[in-house]
Order: sequence, then C-alpha cells, then structure tokens
Amino acid sequence: MKETKKILIANRGVIAIRALRAAKELGYKVASVYSTVDRDQKHLKLSDEAICIGPGPARDSYLNEAAIIAAAELANVDAIYPGYGFLAENASFAEKCNQSGFKFIGPDPKVIEIMGDKIKAKELVVSLGIPIVPGYSGDIQSNEQIRPIVREIGYPVIVKATSGGGGKGMRIVNNENELWDSIVSAQNEAKLAFGNDKVFIEKFLGKPRHIEIQIFGDGKGKAIHLYSRDCSLQRKYQKILEEAPALNIPREKLDEIQNICVKACEEISYEGAGTLEFLYEDGQFFFIEMNTRIQVEHTVTEMITGIDLVQSQLILALEGQFKMEQDDIKVNGHAMQCRINAEDPETFIPSPGVIENVHRPGGYHVRFESQIYSGYKVPTNYDSLIAEVIVKDRDRDKTINKMEMALNELVISGIKTNKELHLRILEDSKFKNVDYYIKYLEEELI
Ligand code: ADP
Repeated sequence: MKETKKILIANRGVIAIRALRAAKELGYKVASVYSTVDRDQKHLKLSDEAICIGPGPARDSYLNEAAIIAAAELANVDAIYPGYGFLAENASFAEKCNQSGFKFIGPDPKVIEIMGDKIKAKELVVSLGIPIVPGYSGDIQSNEQIRPIVREIGYPVIVKATSGGGGKGMRIVNNENELWDSIVSAQNEAKLAFGNDKVFIEKFLGKPRHIEIQIFGDGKGKAIHLYSRDCSLQRKYQKILEEAPALNIPREKLDEIQNICVKACEEISYEGAGTLEFLYEDGQFFFIEMNTRIQVEHTVTEMITGIDLVQSQLILALEGQFKMEQDDIKVNGHAMQCRINAEDPETFIPSPGVIENVHRPGGYHVRFESQIYSGYKVPTNYDSLIAEVIVKDRDRDKTINKMEMALNELVISGIKTNKELHLRILEDSKFKNVDYYIKYLEEELI
C-alpha cells in the first residue's frame, strides 16, 4: 500500500494550479497532464509528475478519455480531479475512472448523467420540492402542435437544449412568428454542439438575477449548504463578476431555498461539491440547472465561509471524511471575484499571445488565482480565462473599494484583458445599488 495519496489533475489553467495547491497543502502527491501547447504551465513545474496527453486541440488531449486514464495508470494515482469544463460533467468518463480503479472526484456518475440532461434534472428537482421555471419539456412535432402549448405558457419564451452548456443552443422567442425558426435553429445548434438535438421551452423571465446555492454532500445522505452567490453580471451567458453572499433578497427567502437545496441533495445522497442555479425575479426562485462539479466562482464562497472547497472535495474523495456541520458554517463579510479574460475589453475578441509582464495585486484578503507569469504564452486553443482576482471585506461597499484597488494594482502587459470593463462595472451606480439583472451588462453597460 502507498503511504502518500496521489491525485491526477485532469485539467489546465486556473483550476489546475488551484487544485495543485490544495492537494500539496494536504500532503498529497500530484500528477498533472498537459497538451503540447501547455508545456509551460506553472502547475506542471510544481507537480510530482507531468504527463503529455496529446496535441493542442482539446478533443485530442483534455477531452481524450483514454489518454487521461492511461496517464492515471502510468502515475499510479488514487483519484482523478476533473475541475470544471472538459470532462468534469461527463458521466461516462466518471464511470470509466471509477471502473479503472481511480476514484472520480465528484458525485455518482448516475447523478452527473441526470443533472447533465436539463429536462431530467428539472423533473428530478421538481419531485424534490424545488421550484422551476414553468415551461414545456414534451415532444415537439410541428409548428401547429407546439403553437398552442407555447401560447399557454405566454411569450416571451426561451428555447433551450437539454444537453446544453455555455449558453449554446438557446433562443429567445418574442412572438409566435419567430417560434418555429427558433426551435429549428436551436435544434441544429444543439445537434452540432452536443450531438443531441432535443430542446425544451421555458418562460423567458424579463429581468431576473442569477442566484446560486453552493452545497456539499457526504454521498451518504448528509448535505450542507454554504450560502448563496450572485452571478448576475454576465455577457453572452458567461459570468464575468461574482459575489457572495447574494444581497437584497429577504433573509427568509434565502434560508428557505438553501434548506430546500440541502434536503434535495440529501434525498439523492449527493457527494461532494455542487451548485444549484436559480433565476430570481419578483421574490421567487426558479431552478435552471445543477452543476455537479466545482465552479469557477467557488472562491467567493470560500472567502466568506473560510472553508476550502477544493480541499474538502479531496478529503472526502481520498479519506472518506466529511467534517462540516451546518451550524459551524457562518457568513463572514462580503466577497467578490473578477474574472480576468485574455480579450479585448471593447470588442471581446480573444487576445492570446505572450504576456510580457505580470504584476499581481496583494494585501489583506486579496487573492489572485492564476497560472500566468511574465513570459507565459496564452495559447489560442482554450477559453480566455487567465486569472481571478478575489477580495473580501466587511461589507459590499468596502469590498468594491478593495476590488478597485486590487485591479488598479494588477498589471498584465503584452496581451489585452478585460480589466477596464471590471473597473467600469465597479464604478456604475446601479451596480453599487445591487440594481441589476442578467442582461444588465449587455443591455445597459457595454
Ligand atoms: P447553460 O447551461 O448553457 O449555461 P443555463 O440554463 O444555465 O444554460 O442558462 C444560462 C443563462 O441563460 C442563465 O444564467 C440566464 O442568464 C439565461 N437564462 C436561462 N434560462 C432563462 C429563462 N428562463 N429566462 C431568462 N433567462 C434565462
């Protein structure tokens, strides 16, 4: 038997260095994988082993299941950490890991499968008492058949792909004339992106906020929540700036939804970290989906609760230990995260290339999660997230001031980043008053 536990990090970028730090702090050994364009990633140099799994395109490397399992065998690891994106919510990969003797760090593959199908997920959560957006998930046969059904729901509606992710395969439909074309184009996009053209229809909420609940389960029927996050500031359905906890929502409403989420996760013996995402409008929560993995914005929850979520995932998976009690988890202050993307702040066109110089922000409760360093080359192959600036302070106003300071201190030269966009958001009076909604950035600020 090996004395020291060892994990394989099956990811890259910000989450790879995050997981590496968490594992090393716990005294575990780490093997990492990389594609040929990622040879110079910082976490590889800090890993016990680094294994090349293929060329740049993700489908040939980070999505290459056989290559990752082979790397796990070569490195003789105990478990595989998927992070987010790539194979993190791929139920069949999770199953293959488990069957090959490497614990997939996440929930039961069956739960991943259900939650990965938005229709099945909605059916399940409704049965567990969670409120959903009203809509139609049945068969769509023809324009004639679907029109009266949608009329009943009431326009506007949104057509969504059941296997959807990253905002793909969604269409907003304002009236009956647009309905059929929108369904067909959403089906086509979904088929191309996910290999599944099944779509469903939901009432389109006008100006909701995106509020989510972080939960953590022991896999044996016990779960806790770690409060809420507000991720309403989005562009093209992608989150840009996140906060915890969500403000301007009656305390009893939040308590209620948090408790419902915990009960639901206990009911399905949920294992590890998970997030239930809701739209919040007119005092009501509507479930949209559950992410069965760690999320990019987990950091703000860590800042307000003092709980290291990634370490908690590792300890549960590798030691079978779950040490959190609901009563011990308290909110302390307010936290905010700005996602720093390698992109033009005006046009949002990706801006890969060599980073000439990096100067990181510092200070009390200022956190910088990133793999970048001076001379690091941002490859063209992957998404544009290169860093997260996370700060915490006593209240939201102080947190905004602290974030402004941290961003002003941050220097990334040689490529373009969206730092200026964040500074504009922080100065906005509606943002300061928590008076925004999911399309606020796109419709009113940029
Ligand atoms: P994905 O898995 O592609 O991210 P989601 O179902 O999580 O898709 O939705 C992504 C975003 O789309 C939400 O955060 C919200 O901004 C918007 N959205 C989704 N459903 C609705 C709806 N019914 N009404 C209004 N906006 C919606």
